[in-house]
Amino acid sequence: MDNITVLEIAVDIIDSDCQLNHGLKDLEKHKAIDSLVIPLKKKDSEEEDCISIPVCESCRDGLFDPCWILLFCLDCLSSQWVSKELSKLDYTKKEGSQIVAEYDMILLRGCPKCSTKLQGIYYL
Ligand SMILES: [Zn+2]
Ligand SMILES: [Zn+2]
Repeated sequence: MDNITVLEIAVDIIDSDCQLNHGLKDLEKHKAIDSLVIPLKKKDSEEEDCISIPVCESCRDGLFDPCWILLFCLDCLSSQWVSKELSKLDYTKKEGSQIVAEYDMILLRGCPKCSTKLQGIYYL
């Protein structure tokens, strides 16, 4: 990444609010302090693209918190925090029958908010 890109992203964050969902009980705006960069690979192409989402301090902490997983829809950019303990989704990365890691984020193509059909699911 060259300096110009870094600077542009930094400027973006200063004026942004956190773009992640804080739940229905918390509708206040949260100042973004960092950005979550999701790498995307275009279909039928080697080209890499990425989207960058401004996040606040507590959302950034959540991404490092082993108790929570973030579901993020790439189609409508809506998000949802899920407690791993209560989740029915499998967020563990396995090699054979061994759990080697846990994912922090699940990307969806299509979610209940924007589509009737799930087009894809990716783990990060
Ligand atoms: Zn946040
Ligand atoms: Zn969606």
